[in-house]
Amino acid sequence: MRASTKMRGADVLVVGAGPAGLVAAETLVRGGARVTLVERHAFPGGKACGGGITSGAWAAAGLGGTGANSSVRYFDTLEVHTPLGRAEVRRAAPFLATVDRRAWAAARIEVLRDLGVDVRLGVRLTGLADKGATTDAGAIAAGRIVAADGSASRVRRLLDLPVGLVLRALQLRIGRELDVASKLGCKNPAIWFSPRAFGSGYAWAFPSTQGLRLGCGVSSRSPAASRLKPAFLAWLDGLGWDPARGRLESGTIACGYAGHRFGRVSLAGDAAGLASPVTGEGIAAALASGAEVAREILEPGYSSTIIPRLAARHRRTHDALLFPALSTPALVLAPLLLRVPRVREAAFGRYVL
Ligand SMILES: Cc1cc2nc3c(=O)[nH]c(=O)nc-3n(C[C@H](O)[C@H](O)[C@H](O)COP(=O)(O)OP(=O)(O)OC[C@H]3O[C@@H](n4cnc5c(N)ncnc54)[C@H](O)[C@@H]3O)c2cc1C
Repeated sequence: MRASTKMRGADVLVVGAGPAGLVAAETLVRGGARVTLVERHAFPGGKACGGGITSGAWAAAGLGGTGANSSVRYFDTLEVHTPLGRAEVRRAAPFLATVDRRAWAAARIEVLRDLGVDVRLGVRLTGLADKGATTDAGAIAAGRIVAADGSASRVRRLLDLPVGLVLRALQLRIGRELDVASKLGCKNPAIWFSPRAFGSGYAWAFPSTQGLRLGCGVSSRSPAASRLKPAFLAWLDGLGWDPARGRLESGTIACGYAGHRFGRVSLAGDAAGLASPVTGEGIAAALASGAEVAREILEPGYSSTIIPRLAARHRRTHDALLFPALSTPALVLAPLLLRVPRVREAAFGRYVL
């Protein structure tokens, strides 16, 4: 994409080297903008995350769908567990990948540097200023700012936007040296619905090149949120896994969209509240919205329809889940429902692919 008018000076400051910020920075620099990217961590990508990316987002993530390597694994099967039993969702081709986010971010940053982005790692944005922003390493002048600083976005708070709906998540990160995936029989990604433990949320096991992530996430508005840790520990116990054998991490996933354009500041990814309130999948939305906000900056007449559509779709599916009378039986009956091809395709279209 080329910018309609080549920008001058320090054009855009991108905050955060997650999927949203990395894609925004790349789209902007390829479009002719002069870009500075600040990231508070020296080695980004270590945040609590299962690293699961469904196939619809592979192109945006630069994944080919084949040729698993030391940082990506592809899967054609998802296991679904409920109190009524277990089902396998299998497809002819892989539809889910797990990525090592540290390796992925490092590779994208190398590309950005080659393209001329001024990447400053270990630099934290602290405030917004008239002509740019302040950081813990001094002021940075920039005409526009892309806030891709994640679910606890400082920029979002500085703009005084409500936090909105979040999912609370816990995850046990288990290194590959323990070979836990084969010990637990987790060859494929798996999810567990248990309305009693996790409300309309779920637990997951995502094998990756780095080992295994066992996690769970629920809406902060669900009663299950207040008893998430005991429920998670009980679930691990049921799997026969001692939580001491792994690193317990927690995080939030932001699903409350409240707009993404605020004068010279644009929000993308979790900072904009664009993760799915149903699956907690946020990488795909981060990649898509990062590209979209960059395009809005490069092409002054362009107004994204993709971002509001994504937000509206998330709101609708979330509202449907507010009715436990509908959602609980659907989650419990998932193994049976998923045997019906039309139901399976509809569920995939809406939630997975
Ligand atoms: C336990 C857990 C498991 C998850 N599993 C999955 C999954 O399997 N698949 C999926 O799609 N989604 C998953 N998610 C959600 C996913 O991690 C997020 O939706 C996604 O990372 C959002 O991308 P982002 O680029 O918007 O933000 P982030 O990936 O959070 O990146 C934000 C970046 O900004 C940096 N930053 C923050 N503040 C500042 C500051 N002030 N100055 C400079 N830099 C700053 C951060 O260090 C970070 O690198 C999971 C979330 C959790 C908590």
